[in-house]
Amino acid sequence: MGYMQVDKHTLKALSVDRVYVLGDASNVPTSKAGSVAHYMSYTVVENVIREIDGHAPVPTFDGHATCFLASGFEKAILLDFNYTVEPLSGKFPFPGLGPFSLLEETFGNHWGKMTFKWVYWNLMMKGLELPLEAQFNMAGKMRKVPA
Ligand SMILES: Cc1cc2nc3c(=O)[nH]c(=O)nc-3n(C[C@H](O)[C@H](O)[C@H](O)COP(=O)(O)OP(=O)(O)OC[C@H]3O[C@@H](n4cnc5c(N)ncnc54)[C@H](O)[C@@H]3O)c2cc1C
Repeated sequence: MGYMQVDKHTLKALSVDRVYVLGDASNVPTSKAGSVAHYMSYTVVENVIREIDGHAPVPTFDGHATCFLASGFEKAILLDFNYTVEPLSGKFPFPGLGPFSLLEETFGNHWGKMTFKWVYWNLMMKGLELPLEAQFNMAGKMRKVPA
């Protein structure tokens, strides 16, 4: 498909020297999503600085993705996962509180999807800290108990 081949944890290009890749252009085995590009940027920025300073890259990207799925009729589903943990149920981003529900189709998730673009560009990009960490976090998630 023409994706850039990268180390999936450091995001360093495999066939080109001193190049790091983020977003849809990379071949990492996680979602092609805005959240993924955002989470990757932490690793890429740190590793570009480390490259300039002559240090080895750090393998900090874990495949973290947070995706709203519009499911119709003012409802949406929210998924949060990484390379090794499949989507689990629970609350996000505040553990136990939400306001969003993982793996559930809710109006609250739809509201979150509709407002997040404005929140991202007008608040987060201007410095508002939300608990949207680059690394996947089990807090607020429920492991499925085998039947
Ligand atoms: C219909 C649709 C719905 C989506 N919905 C969601 C969603 O709800 N949530 C979510 O998280 N993600 C969603 N995504 C995915 C998300 O948009 C992408 O994962 C994200 O935009 C990737 O960012 P990027 O910067 O890697 O690439 P892009 O946003 O594609 O940016 C690449 C940029 O490079 C430019 N470019 C291309 N070639 C050249 C060139 N030769 N020279 C200079 N510039 C060039 C392009 O014009 C573009 O501006 C959706 C994608 C699509 C298509």
